[in-house]
Amino acid sequence: MKSEYSLETPAQELESLHFDNRFLRELPADPDCSNRVRQVPKACYSRVKPTPMAKPRLVAFSEEVADLLGLSEQACETELFAEVFAGNRLLPGMDPYAMCYGGHQFGHWAGQLGDGRAINLGEVLNARGEHWMLQLKGCGLTPYSRQGDGLAVLRSSVREFLCSEAMHHLGIPTTRALSLVLTGEEVTRDMFYDGHPKQEPGAIVCRVSPSFTRFGSFQIFTYRDELEQLRKLVDFTIRHDFPQLPAPGVATYLQWFEEICRRTADLMVHWMRVGFVHGVMNTDNMSISGLTIDYGPYGWLEDYDLTWTPNTTDAQGRRYCFGQQPQVALWNLAQLANAIYPLIGQAEPLEEALKLYGASYQRGWQEMMAQKLGLRQFEAASDEALCKELDALLQSAETDMTIFYRNLTEVGAGQPEPQQLDDEALLAPLQEAYYQPEQLTEEHRRRTADWLRSYLQRVAGDGREEEDRRSQMQAVNPKYVLRNYLAQLAIDKAESGDYSLVTELLEVLRQPYAEQPEQQEFAAKRPEWARHRAGCSMLSCSS
Ligand code: AMP
Ligand code: MG
Repeated sequence: MKSEYSLETPAQELESLHFDNRFLRELPADPDCSNRVRQVPKACYSRVKPTPMAKPRLVAFSEEVADLLGLSEQACETELFAEVFAGNRLLPGMDPYAMCYGGHQFGHWAGQLGDGRAINLGEVLNARGEHWMLQLKGCGLTPYSRQGDGLAVLRSSVREFLCSEAMHHLGIPTTRALSLVLTGEEVTRDMFYDGHPKQEPGAIVCRVSPSFTRFGSFQIFTYRDELEQLRKLVDFTIRHDFPQLPAPGVATYLQWFEEICRRTADLMVHWMRVGFVHGVMNTDNMSISGLTIDYGPYGWLEDYDLTWTPNTTDAQGRRYCFGQQPQVALWNLAQLANAIYPLIGQAEPLEEALKLYGASYQRGWQEMMAQKLGLRQFEAASDEALCKELDALLQSAETDMTIFYRNLTEVGAGQPEPQQLDDEALLAPLQEAYYQPEQLTEEHRRRTADWLRSYLQRVAGDGREEEDRRSQMQAVNPKYVLRNYLAQLAIDKAESGDYSLVTELLEVLRQPYAEQPEQQEFAAKRPEWARHRAGCSMLSCSS
């Protein structure tokens, strides 16, 4: 953050952001600067200006992201800030462009997609020497808009803004969000594609990330047989986003792919840990840096259901449901392997790297489960069966995943011989996790109590202080996540002009692992009214 002795006014702070646009400078540009929808061959990007918006108004900003860029809170509250992050004004050094990429959508090659409503403003070089790309989402047409209008509505922008920051505070790799700005424009959306279009308030999120490059950014070149451009983008990515790797060459390309496999595995482990469902894991929505990217019809698991997906478009196939994510990530990595194959010319090492994904995921998942359960480490001999039975139990009654794990710490707490407790005493701390406690069968209660006894036995064998175990468990089992209904409540209020819940949620989600007793209401499981309500349990790509 700028010191309070800074000689600059808040607006001057913005004017003096330092831009160093490496992506533009080092990669092939589209020579055509006209803003009309078209195929763009042999280019990583097209220069295009954001469309001016009627009446920009700041709704919220993230202090932490502002700080990354070296901006004070005062700078974020200026009129200039709202103008810039609605795309109405450019700061010195900004040079806007939309990125070209393709992708597999729902398993099928979809050809050119690209930034249809996102425009990069440039790369801020901060005082720590880090590059941060700024990208507006919802700021008008680009050459990649296809049939779209290039805009974004308030509800989806609130969701992207809050979830990006919530994920970061959960310790999960993600693109960040600097700001949420209302545009003052109305946007027409048919939310469920059922012939009921509505006018909605338009909004723009400024996303911030070291990179917005996707698996599909490489795929597009290979599909078009543009290998020179492919190599340029791969070399660029290795140089800047994987600086720990040696200079580009075949061996480095393989190391790079292995690293992408490891990072993707790590990301999947995180999503499975917290119950995050991305909803649209198309290859254009997979970050090459292993970040969570493109928050659309994502959702948070309420009751533990491996087949759950928030995305209505995927309700039939459930390709992207919760339990499928690690598998789909592998499928996506295989598409990336195909895309870079021409630079490597050997299939075998790529196949080996894909196996490495499986092994990394497996190892990461086991470590993660051990942590969630408060164990020193995963012991396959006992813990495989323990986890398997837990998985079955969680699915056999409607159980809130977040509350279950958070409260598991309390089972038998303070008891010298907790395994001796009767069923009722053992189960008491978990009651809150059940959506329909009155429907729990005797058999389910007994089975759960049995499981808890084996679990406590296993914990006792570890011989750790209860306090140690509690703090380990609390550090990986969040109390606060962006529950689907909470995001929807914030949206309902925001649509009526009250933005207070957006800011409140942003604040609570800053410390998802802390108890925050005064914020208890935000840890509550989904209320019944939200069970089937649009926006809470069902989302579409219409955003
Ligand atoms: P998504 O499924 O949101 O990742 O989007 C897939 C593709 O559609 C990307 O190329 C987006 O840029 C594009 N897209 C989504 N919504 C719009 C829109 N309203 N206007 C233009 N392009 C869009
Ligand atoms: Mg996308």
